[in-house]
Amino acid sequence: MGYDVVIVGGGLAGLTNSLVLAKSGLSVLVVEKKAYPFHRVCGEYISNEVLPFLKSMGAYPEELEPAQLKRFQLTSVAGKQMEMPLDLGGWGISRYALDEFLYRRALELGVTFRLKTQVEDVHFQDNQFEVVLAQGDIIFSPLVIGAFGKRSKVDKVLDRQFIQERSDYIGVKYHIRTEFPGDVIALHNFAGGYCGLSKVEGERYNMCYLGSRKHLRQYGSIEAMEEAVVKRNPYLKQVYENSEFLFEKPEVINEINFKPKAPVEGHILMSGDSAGLITPLCGNGMALAIHSAKLLSELILTHYSPKETWDREVLETEYAKVWKKHFALRLWAGRKIQRLFGGESASNLAVNLGKRTPWVARRMMAQTHGKPF
Ligand SMILES: Cc1cc2nc3c(=O)[nH]c(=O)nc-3n(C[C@H](O)[C@H](O)[C@H](O)COP(=O)(O)OP(=O)(O)OC[C@H]3O[C@@H](n4cnc5c(N)ncnc54)[C@H](O)[C@@H]3O)c2cc1C
Repeated sequence: MGYDVVIVGGGLAGLTNSLVLAKSGLSVLVVEKKAYPFHRVCGEYISNEVLPFLKSMGAYPEELEPAQLKRFQLTSVAGKQMEMPLDLGGWGISRYALDEFLYRRALELGVTFRLKTQVEDVHFQDNQFEVVLAQGDIIFSPLVIGAFGKRSKVDKVLDRQFIQERSDYIGVKYHIRTEFPGDVIALHNFAGGYCGLSKVEGERYNMCYLGSRKHLRQYGSIEAMEEAVVKRNPYLKQVYENSEFLFEKPEVINEINFKPKAPVEGHILMSGDSAGLITPLCGNGMALAIHSAKLLSELILTHYSPKETWDREVLETEYAKVWKKHFALRLWAGRKIQRLFGGESASNLAVNLGKRTPWVARRMMAQTHGKPF
């Protein structure tokens, strides 16, 4: 069977695209290599800029009682700290719960899912796509959305430029029970990285850090690296010593690359991290994934018609333009601000900046955040 749109990847970008397109009557297939619900490496702090849109789609999971986050705390490697209000604020919810919630909403709107199915290859020929699934099936479709996240098999088959380069970053996530204010998101620096701590739904907290693969190799295991590097920040040491860790082992990913990517490649329309990943210190990747999916789906609804001829080139050009206008500067700012993190003196500088000139810190934060949409 053919679909108007095949979406590769059912994370926030893929699910959001599926909601908007299915709501307007297009036939949509989402191919996701895992099965909901599942944990992902993510800080699980989501900026309030997404609220008007999610509420308008009936996709804000109010009944899950997300934590409401209003204050920001920053500590340096050596344990200096500052606190400031979060101008726009955000909410905390586990991806385990949020993605499952959006998946259920998409099913209600008639979206078809192929779960536990990996897309192996995508060919574009005679103005249509052939999407090759791991089981050998081929799905035909006039439109394919690439919502396969930071790094995927599809990036390799497309031979995208960033895939050639190794990245030093690793991501590690835990859920914990701990004593910490429920309305604060903390960002604790350590050598080579930084760790977020904030509440999600229930009595759980998310503890998620971006660390260095070099350190992991040097110390031989996550545990040894945490002992030698992460716990040198006294705030983090205290969290490790006074919390209950709820996973048997942490969720870990590697090869996290913040290099610019193209929003359209091989005629595939990229959405979310597939189009570009913002540095996680901004706590904005999820909002960006949802926003980019909304913009892309609205353009598809404007330019694509299942019954009449339509102009692919106009859709691709428009999307590339809109993506650049909304997100290119934010990703660039995120890369620059990340230089203030993960080093002893740089993180001291960041804390001092926040303390002495809070308006500058707020301006910097605003650079990486969007307006409510
Ligand atoms: C350490 C770290 C902390 C972060 N913390 C935050 C935070 O606190 N707040 C925030 O807003 N953002 C944060 N982010 C960023 C955020 O997690 C991402 O920007 C967001 O998940 C992007 O959503 P997505 O849908 O593009 O990708 P994903 O959520 O990664 O979804 C991609 C999906 O595609 C599937 N897939 C991949 N390849 C295939 C294939 N070939 N076939 C089928 N399925 C496939 C995957 O299984 C996955 O489900 C963080 C990122 C990192 C690395």
